Amino acid sequence: MSILCVCADGSVPGVYPCVIQGEHLNTCTGYNGRDEVCTGCQPRPAERGYLCQKHMDDVEHAYARWAEWRSQVTLAGERTMQRDNGGRSSNTLGYVPLTGWQLSLDECTRFIASLESMPRPSLAVWVRSENGARDASQFARAAIRAYVEHPVWEQDTWLSRRCPSCGQKAMKRFPPAYFPSEVRVTCQNRQCGRDLTEEALEALVEIEENRKRA
Ligand SMILES: [Zn+2]
Ligand SMILES: [Zn+2]
Ligand SMILES: [Zn+2]
Repeated sequence: MSILCVCADGSVPGVYPCVIQGEHLNTCTGYNGRDEVCTGCQPRPAERGYLCQKHMDDVEHAYARWAEWRSQVTLAGERTMQRDNGGRSSNTLGYVPLTGWQLSLDECTRFIASLESMPRPSLAVWVRSENGARDASQFARAAIRAYVEHPVWEQDTWLSRRCPSCGQKAMKRFPPAYFPSEVRVTCQNRQCGRDLTEEALEALVEIEENRKRA
């Protein structure tokens, strides 16, 4: 029998079990535990170390944003604390109550410790051991939730300039969700939908201005 993803049997706390849609175990009754029609119960095999490709994708996405999120949330959090307690580092009982972002940071840090303690951290090596794969999938779960609950990335914004295609003031700027990738600017006029990089838009604006001047 092939090795299964460590998350397959649902034994990793908080991590969704992975099954193959439409494929069933010999023991499947056609219904799942909640008396609903079973849509698939064949566990996913381990494809990357002890993880299936889906769970490895989560780990890679979470890790790609980790260093940036950790430094941004720490900076923003320290500023907030200074503002809220006037620079005092503790209350009368001598301790600082942990806030939401600190709890999230702590949780992620605990799971990623086994990766960061490697002489040369590597995701591929991390998930090659069963314990590493468990840590990795729990890190991914905690980190992806942390990024949603404590966002440090820029918000989408409306631009004041007009769309180069349809001329409407309907351009929205979307900062990238993952690093490194480019900022996109998209026209929200449904009939238009022009989509380009911020860089390309700036180049167009420059050509336009040169033409006016000429
Ligand atoms: Zn089934
Ligand atoms: Zn899996
Ligand atoms: Zn447009």
